[in-house]
Amino acid sequence: MKRKNLRFNFVAATLAALLCATTAPSLIPIQSHLLLSAPENHARATTAFVQYDDPYSDFRNARYSNAGLLNERNEVKLGLQLHREVTKKFRLTDVGLDRVERLGQRCARASLRPNLLYKFHVIQSREINGFSLPGGHVYVTTALLRLANDDELASVLAHEIGHIVARHSLKTLKQSQEYDEIAKSLGELTGVVGDVGRDLGVALGQIVGQGFLAVHTRDEEREADFLGVRGMTRARFDPQGMITMFQKLQRVEEQDANLLGTLFSDHPDVQERIANTRYEIARMTRR
Ligand SMILES: [Zn+2]
Repeated sequence: MKRKNLRFNFVAATLAALLCATTAPSLIPIQSHLLLSAPENHARATTAFVQYDDPYSDFRNARYSNAGLLNERNEVKLGLQLHREVTKKFRLTDVGLDRVERLGQRCARASLRPNLLYKFHVIQSREINGFSLPGGHVYVTTALLRLANDDELASVLAHEIGHIVARHSLKTLKQSQEYDEIAKSLGELTGVVGDVGRDLGVALGQIVGQGFLAVHTRDEEREADFLGVRGMTRARFDPQGMITMFQKLQRVEEQDANLLGTLFSDHPDVQERIANTRYEIARMTRR
């Protein structure tokens, strides 16, 4: 995401993430691959078998932990403080929460980080969106709930859980200028709610306002897609739901892109995410 776009709201920020595309080729035909591919793929695109390249090869042997990042205890504290900022900024609702909780906990238990306490939240909004924060907080909008069937909703939840499994936001936070100060303040917090230092509160408020913890790189999106399609399958959802979710989002974009926030137009590569998901489903089915 371009920094100049940081003004738009936090919810919008992550749909971008949700929709933002990957660059790896997989099962798509060579011709369209050439149209879609990033420069790094051009050389390989000349070979006849490029469509069988593994788009997720970087992630297959990954091991995840908090090593080198905030420890889990402080991550949970951070998540609680950030969640409080989210509640100031957005209208949370119980509408559909039972369903999200049921599907979400199922995906969480099947994830590669099953022991964290996950909290699912619904935001009242006509924007179709989902995002997550450190410490196990996952958010989806009422508009998304209306659009998605259970398998499709599970694909979004499993994708967001994937960001939490891979500690993407913690990695982003580590790169921020305020990291040392935030880490120190979190370490000094004795309770988890209510005693946050004033400076820390201001810093975290700004972080939520900018939405930057919910904005991810393309590689991180690819990794969350990978963890998501695997996780939802382990949780016994139909992974085709991830593909039909992408297709629905694409149709909405064609009809009224405003419903997807401003970022979707910056990331037109949803076709590649569909192709990558198809690749992974085929790969799981073979075994
Ligand atoms: Zn994402």
